[in-house]
Amino acid sequence: PGRMPGVCRCVSAPSAEETAFKTKVARNANMAKLQAGYLFPELARRRSAHMSKYPDAKVISLGIGDTTEPIPDDITSAMAMRAHSLGTFEGYSGYGAEQGDKKLRANIALTYYKDLGIEETDIFVSDGAKCDISRLQLLFGSQVKMAVQDPSYPAYVDSSVIMGQTGLFQKDIEKYANIEYMRCVPENDFFPDLSSISQADVIYFCSPNNPTGSTATRDQLTQLVQFAKDNGSIIVFDSAYAMYISDDSPRSIYEIPGAKEVAIEISSFSKYAGFTGVRLGWTVVPKELLFADGFPVAKDFNRIVSTCFNGASNIAQAGGLACLSPAGLKAMQNTINFYKENTKIIVDTFTSLGFNVYGGKNAPYVWVQFPGRSSWDVFTEILEKGHVVITPGSGFGPGGESFIRVSAFGHRENILEAAKRIKQLYQ
Ligand code: PLP
Repeated sequence: PGRMPGVCRCVSAPSAEETAFKTKVARNANMAKLQAGYLFPELARRRSAHMSKYPDAKVISLGIGDTTEPIPDDITSAMAMRAHSLGTFEGYSGYGAEQGDKKLRANIALTYYKDLGIEETDIFVSDGAKCDISRLQLLFGSQVKMAVQDPSYPAYVDSSVIMGQTGLFQKDIEKYANIEYMRCVPENDFFPDLSSISQADVIYFCSPNNPTGSTATRDQLTQLVQFAKDNGSIIVFDSAYAMYISDDSPRSIYEIPGAKEVAIEISSFSKYAGFTGVRLGWTVVPKELLFADGFPVAKDFNRIVSTCFNGASNIAQAGGLACLSPAGLKAMQNTINFYKENTKIIVDTFTSLGFNVYGGKNAPYVWVQFPGRSSWDVFTEILEKGHVVITPGSGFGPGGESFIRVSAFGHRENILEAAKRIKQLYQ
């Protein structure tokens, strides 16, 4: 029967739950374990909400840690040329090797691992370090136990939860069950007391660290490699900020003798060349690294990459090659130096206000302590009163509570303006 014109059928609106069609597919129980949103989309959400509330405020974002400065010309020109050549019969290419362009692999080995015994075939080019963190979780499977710096970049823990390596989130201690949290705080020089760490299969270690900006010394990394050897663990070493190191701290875990037998290294062009949007990184899996049964880890990683990935974009890889040319290396270092000057402005600002300030020296992140305060309260205060977005330290793990992370990625005028507002707020 058709609708009767002019007759209003007044029925209460049924709830979406009553009417929505549901599939019979059960939700992945590991997904249900995850807490709220991934940290950085949550920050973006709060920033948008703030901007709707104060449409006239000039909000400065020193939160997410995304790069802001243009990619150097030598690098964009190489990508543009590659893109154009794809429009010609001679220059066209389709799928490339899943492991990456041979020349790029060789150049990465030569540029970052010369004299460290890492060869072209140990390098797997990727679409970024974050993607490889997840592919490494697939490699290890659900039965391993992970250890992680606390605080740390959230992708290690969240991908481990998704993979099913953990138990439930324990609200009282803000930790997932079956993860070994290695507390890194000023009291221990941001390096965990390894004697108190129980056995873990896979140890995620990031130096220079996001978020604390701390860098492990040669002696500390030697201890870490020895710890992995003693326990038969594999280290996943994240060197995404290695080019920001300006003292003699190791830039690669393979600077430590014996590391090839216990460590994988992930790295990225994101924070070197402004490739956060272009997407290009790499993972080193040395042929010397073996599973308990003697099977080479690299062979399994190769199988994962061939199955789950079809190789990094050919245009991005042309950009990567240009990054590693003499002009490209110089241009990347110039951009990094620019961000390091920003870092100094931020460090000086908080130091002059009497805060305890950490990091910043070898990393684009400044880690500031607000004793006795909740990180999210400080986040809200700085956003509401200064219109500046920072990142609450507790978003990186319980060890980050009462700290904030301030990113040095920003245009100079924004960094200076943020510094001015923070001074007004706290002096
Ligand atoms: N590892 C660390 C420690 C990071 O801070 C980031 C990005 O912020 C990544 C990995 C991700 O890098 P990519 O852009 O290569 O995925």
